[in-house]
Amino acid sequence: MLRGLMQDDYPLTLGHVLGRMRTLNAGAEIVTLREADGARTRASFGEVVGRIDRLAAGLAAHGIGEGDRVGTFAWNSQEHVELYMAIPCLGAVLHTLNIRLFPEQLAYVINHAQDRIVFVDDSLVPLLDRVSDQLTTVELFVIIGDGPAGNLHPTVRYEEFLAAEPIDAYPAVEERSAAALCYTSGTTGNPKGVMYSHRSTVLHAFSTGLAEALGVTSADRVLPIVPQFHANAWGLVHGSCLIGASLVMPGRFLQAAPLAELITSERVTLSGAVPTIWMDLLRHLDAHPETDTSSLTKVVCGGAAVPRALMEPLEQRHGITLVQAWGMTETSPLGSVAHPPAGSTGEERWSYRLSQGKIAPLVEARIVADDGTPLPWDGASAGELQVRGPWIAAGYYEDPQGSVEKFADGWLRTGDVATIDSRGYIRITDRTKDIIKSGGEWISSVELENELMAHPAVREAAVIAMPDERYTERPLGCVVAEGDLSVEDLRAHLSDRVAKWWIPDAFAFIDEVPKTSVGKFDKKVLRARLTDGELEVQTATEAARG
Ligand code: AMP
Repeated sequence: MLRGLMQDDYPLTLGHVLGRMRTLNAGAEIVTLREADGARTRASFGEVVGRIDRLAAGLAAHGIGEGDRVGTFAWNSQEHVELYMAIPCLGAVLHTLNIRLFPEQLAYVINHAQDRIVFVDDSLVPLLDRVSDQLTTVELFVIIGDGPAGNLHPTVRYEEFLAAEPIDAYPAVEERSAAALCYTSGTTGNPKGVMYSHRSTVLHAFSTGLAEALGVTSADRVLPIVPQFHANAWGLVHGSCLIGASLVMPGRFLQAAPLAELITSERVTLSGAVPTIWMDLLRHLDAHPETDTSSLTKVVCGGAAVPRALMEPLEQRHGITLVQAWGMTETSPLGSVAHPPAGSTGEERWSYRLSQGKIAPLVEARIVADDGTPLPWDGASAGELQVRGPWIAAGYYEDPQGSVEKFADGWLRTGDVATIDSRGYIRITDRTKDIIKSGGEWISSVELENELMAHPAVREAAVIAMPDERYTERPLGCVVAEGDLSVEDLRAHLSDRVAKWWIPDAFAFIDEVPKTSVGKFDKKVLRARLTDGELEVQTATEAARG
């Protein structure tokens, strides 16, 4: 082999990112919303780095070093960014804890990861308190803010934990060493830990700067609404720190009104959140059309399929263009982003924008039939989506069984069923576990949901499989209605939108679609309610079915 003559051993570590925050990016700022009345704090990256150095010294004084796991149970804030940097730069592992986990899952992940310290926002102390007597490895709780410490023990306040003097020097860290740990939610069984390396984190952060991806630049003011515990806020924090974009952190104020106010007053240019958040914002903006959101030009939405019924009105009525992206905790999470191809217009352009997106640079994808055969990229053949690349997980932390199931021959089995077209755009038709097989043919629950949500009187819709004697399974539409809606109205609405045999015969009108800990539709809960007879199912008359 004739070797390249390049510095290929240059380590891709978060130390590099911290270095840029200290110098080139020192003038960017972090704004954090602190109070419901709009009170907020501001600190330049330069000031923040001073605090990161003192936090690192505090951690080192507590004996935290290479490989130690340190938990965070916190909203998006300046302190959470400080923890994002100080912990990995010491060679330790940042374990972001999902504040919406059920208590037993929360205790499980803290014990499984063997967290030695947990940093907790004072507003979240009561949630952590519920499991504090089950935690076997935590030596110290560090409380961010002045609120009560509950029964947590022993505790110290964050500002006191910061050492008086900054750390002398950070240890040299190997790029393949662990930097961060995030457990996935919503799967069956215990949560599974995805262990990001420095290398994967830096490469992924770098990719957020691509215009083809999120397009973070140093001119941006980035509002990560997606929580820092949901797949590292989709890379928005690391990307902003590396590139030098300012961060606007919403803290615990994730309701539409304070978010809209932040966007206006902070002139936010780029943001990311799951569809349910943008749905709330759409309703808020409709009610307050005078709100100025004109600064917001780059908006990424993903984590669940983004309905046209959300994208179109947000764009037409408020000038906000959503870009759909697909990813998973296991994929860091950026896997594909739906920028439409040049020259596409009208309905064709919509078909790209409504897809899960084009496979991101450095990510490889394939779709595979049940028997493992790779399928063609013809936009029609559907199979399980599998991906690989430098920021895709290779296994689960301390979980050999889970690792074997999901990581066959170097590819991550995503559990999503998709097509890929000749241009590399992915279209997800379902999760493997959500698929409805009716009379031997697949019905896409995702597509049915999107079409149902296009009805002006449908606030939310989730479609699950219902056992059926004749067809094995039939779709059941679970609908949150605004105003009067009948089964017949919904069936009429669907009649020219989907194939006749896709149209559900049965609907259940519900108050709210249950959500997972990261705000996605939780169809497991709906399925359980159906099995337990808790859903009031209304069926179309024989005559209406035709
Ligand atoms: P999580 O790791 O909790 O973020 O969940 C990842 C899963 O969310 C993926 O495997 C998909 O099923 C789903 N998902 C993420 N983005 C999208 C999207 N744009 N459209 C449809 N499903 C999505």
